[in-house]
Amino acid sequence: MRRIAIDMDEVIADFNLKHLQVFNRDYNENLTLNDLMGTHLRDLRPQLKNEIIAYLNDPTFFRDLDVMKDSQEVIQELSEQFEVFITTAAMYFPTSFTAKYEWLKEHFSFLDEMNFVFCGNKSIINADYLIDDNEEHFQRFKGQGILFTAPHNIHETGYVRVNNWLEVRDYFLK
Ligand SMILES: [Mg+2]
Repeated sequence: MRRIAIDMDEVIADFNLKHLQVFNRDYNENLTLNDLMGTHLRDLRPQLKNEIIAYLNDPTFFRDLDVMKDSQEVIQELSEQFEVFITTAAMYFPTSFTAKYEWLKEHFSFLDEMNFVFCGNKSIINADYLIDDNEEHFQRFKGQGILFTAPHNIHETGYVRVNNWLEVRDYFLK
């Protein structure tokens, strides 16, 4: 079976929605996804960079993220024809391990937890495909990188791109 490695944040977990919610609440702002096009929240408000990153060190931050639309159904389908791994660079936020694990067990219970890969540098990942919103992970990846559209990457070119999970389904199952 061919292997598909799938990132978590901004691919199956709606990271931006919560990050914007807590930031807007605490700083009385009304930023939306449109404000994040081609950038990151930390670059949009550089004077608050430390505070913006600090949210992610909260051990509960990643526990209640929304599931990205259609990701459960499509990954369930893919897992019948491919070996599916969830590969998250959780080492960026080591305090997130438990929340990310529990989140995967809640929302992707049909996957074998032995296929959950919490890593740092994704060049160690040995798979045929990597679906990720961060193109930096494709640089040394030996398989096919598939860029999942996120606000920060909308200007990136030169990658196979999918805009949502229905397009992932088309890419693999059509
Ligand atoms: Mg990501």
